[in-house]
Amino acid sequence: MKVILASNNKHKLEEIKKILSPLGYELISQSEAGISIDVEETGTTFEENAALKARAIYKIAGEPVISDDSGLEVDFLGGAPGVFSHRYAGENATDADRCQKLLKELDGVSEDKRTARFVCVICYIDKDGKECLVRGTCEGHIGYEPLGENGFGYDPVFMYDGKSFAQLTGEEKNSVSHRSDALKKFSEILKK
Ligand code: IMP
Repeated sequence: MKVILASNNKHKLEEIKKILSPLGYELISQSEAGISIDVEETGTTFEENAALKARAIYKIAGEPVISDDSGLEVDFLGGAPGVFSHRYAGENATDADRCQKLLKELDGVSEDKRTARFVCVICYIDKDGKECLVRGTCEGHIGYEPLGENGFGYDPVFMYDGKSFAQLTGEEKNSVSHRSDALKKFSEILKK
């Protein structure tokens, strides 16, 4: 079955594709579906933003849609950057800028206080407009320097089991990530 991803983020597309294609879903990006809108993320929670993105695309396409709203919560920063993860270092910042800003904010903070989690909320709207929201998480901590070349976003500074997410292969990240946690829960719901 064809499903539109309410995003053009190629990293999200690839990660979600790898998990959903064995279940028989053919994932296409918003631009591949011919939709060029950029949905404003005005919600205050991942759930609100995921629903906003999925509903906007469903309204145009009238076909099954999946959206992913995700980000990083750092305990020492009271849960920031959270829903502002993408905008944390300004609209035109790069992934490297965001990682550097985070490392600066945690300068001098000891290892035990650098706990953090990635959060991913998936919103799926089926062809009849029925909505389903699931949340996945992955616990880790923030390192002291960017490490590794893989992945995207905050992967180089997110430490999981002794390695940064950017030091893991795509398969290794997909076996433990917040996105795969959410998608596993979502596929359990689909099977019922
Ligand atoms: P949004 O879901 O498009 O609002 O953006 C979420 C932002 O959170 C991304 O731009 C990344 O900076 C960050 N993020 C989300 N998921 C991941 C991940 O798997 N690895 C690293 N950073 C992530």
